[in-house]
Amino acid sequence: MIKLEEIQSLITPDTSVFWFRRDLRMNDNAGLCHALKNEKNVLPVFVFDTAILDELEDRHDRRVEFIHSSIQQMKEALEKVNSSLLVWHGDPAELFKAIQPKAVYCNHDYEPSSIARDTRIKSILEAKGSAFLSFKDQVIFEKEEVIKEDGSPYTVFTPYSKKWKTRLKAFNLPHYPSETHFANLRKLIPLPFPALTEIGFNETGTSRPDRKIKTKIIEGYGRTRDYPGKSGTTRLSVHLRFGTISIRKLVALAVQKSDSLLNELIWREFYQSILWHFPCVEYQAFKAKYDFVPWNNDETEFQLWCSGKTGYPIVDAGMRELNSTGFMHNRVRMITASFLTKHLLIDWRWGEAYFAKKLLDYDLAANNGGWQWAAGCGCDAAPYFRMFNPRLQTEKFDPDRRYIRKWVPEFGTPDYPEPIVNHEFARGRLLSTFKKALQE
Ligand code: FAD
Repeated sequence: MIKLEEIQSLITPDTSVFWFRRDLRMNDNAGLCHALKNEKNVLPVFVFDTAILDELEDRHDRRVEFIHSSIQQMKEALEKVNSSLLVWHGDPAELFKAIQPKAVYCNHDYEPSSIARDTRIKSILEAKGSAFLSFKDQVIFEKEEVIKEDGSPYTVFTPYSKKWKTRLKAFNLPHYPSETHFANLRKLIPLPFPALTEIGFNETGTSRPDRKIKTKIIEGYGRTRDYPGKSGTTRLSVHLRFGTISIRKLVALAVQKSDSLLNELIWREFYQSILWHFPCVEYQAFKAKYDFVPWNNDETEFQLWCSGKTGYPIVDAGMRELNSTGFMHNRVRMITASFLTKHLLIDWRWGEAYFAKKLLDYDLAANNGGWQWAAGCGCDAAPYFRMFNPRLQTEKFDPDRRYIRKWVPEFGTPDYPEPIVNHEFARGRLLSTFKKALQE
C-alpha cells in the first residue's frame, strides 16, 4: 500500500487532484472534464474510505468487488496514456490533510453522510489555500432545479415528472469530453494497486454485470419491463449507481426511444430529490404518523423471508435471486417489500437494511424511496390498504412460472414449504392494525 510520504512526493505546486467517487468512468465525466480543461497536471485519486468499509460486516461484498474491478480498469486505461491512479485506503481527511494540491475536483454526492464528508474535506483544503470544486454529474436535475412555482419541493411524482420533462432541453444533456484532454493528466509510472484482500475483502464469485446499453431492450422496455422471467429491463442500475455509465447518455437514448424508461429514470431523480429536501427519511417515515405503527417484527418470519422460504413462490424466487446474484427485478422488489411490511407486518426499515446489505445496485435514495412506497409511509406511496396479492401478481407477471421455476426448483414438490401466513388473515390484520395506528 502506498505511504503518505510517497504520495506527498507526487504533489508538485501545480498538481491538482481529481477525486473519483460515484463516477467511475473516464469518458463524459463532468468533474474530470473541468479539471482537465482548467489544470495542466491532474492526479486521479480514488479513496477506499475506511469509514464506509469498516461498517460492512460481510467481508464478501459484491459492491466493494465491483468498485475494485472498476478502478482497476480505470487505472489500466490511465496507464495506457502514461498516467496512473492513486489509490488510498483510509480516511479521506487524513489524505487531504497530508497533501497540498492546487485544487481538488470531484462530482457532487448528495447523500447526507457524503455531504458531511465533503464539507469537512472542503474546509481542510480551503484552510491551506487549496480549492475544492464539485460539479453536477450523476443526475440531470438536482437540488432546487425541479421545484414548484412557490419554491417548495414536489412530493408527488406525476407533477414532478411533468416539470422535469418541461425543463429538459438539449443543453441539459451535454457531453463532457473528458477523454479528449488526457494530455493534462499527471505523468506517472504505474502506482501500486491494493489487492481486494489488502483492503480486507474477499472475492464473491459474482460476475461483473454487462455495461452495454442494449437499444433493443430499450425499444421494447414499455412492453417487457414488468415481467421478471424476461430480459426486459436495462440491468444498468449498478452502473448508474457507481457512474460506470453516464446518466446523460442513457437519458438521451430514453428520450428518443422509450418514454417508460425515461419515467423510471425520473423516479431515480425524484427519490434523490426527496432525500435531498427531506434527509430525515433516512431514519423516519416520510408520513410521520406511520412511525407509530405497532409492527409485529417476528424474527423467525423475518429470517424465512430473508432466505426465501415463505411458501409464497414469487416472494421466495425474488429473495433467492437477491441472495445469489445481488439483483432483484423491480416488480419483484415491490412484491417482496409489500409482503414483508403488509403480510408479515415487519418494519420496512428491517427490509430496507437487508436490501442495503445485499443489493449490488444499493442506493440510499432509491432503496429508501422504494421501501417507504411499498410500506405506504412514503411520499406518493401505495396506500396501506393496497396490498399486493402474490398469487395475482404471479398470474399477471409470471404466468408461465418461468421466473419462479428458475429460482425455486422445488416449487410444486412436497419439499416446498406451506405459506407462513394466510393471505386473508394477513389482510384483515393489516387493515385493523393500520386503521388503529393511523386513527383512520
Ligand atoms: P430499469 O427498469 O432498466 O430502469 C432503468 C434505471 O432507472 C434503473 O437502473 C434505475 O437506475 C432507475 N430506476 C428504475 N426504477 C426505479 C425506481 N422505482 N426508483 C428509482 N430508480 C429507478 N434501485 C436502485 O438503483 N437501487 C436500490 O437500492 C433500489 N432499491 C429498491 C428497493 C425497493 C423496495 C424497490 C421497490 C425498488 C428499488 N429500486 C432500487 C428501484 C428499481 O427496482 C431498480 O432500479 C431496478 O430494478 C434496477 O433494474 P434495471 O437497471 O434493470 O432497471
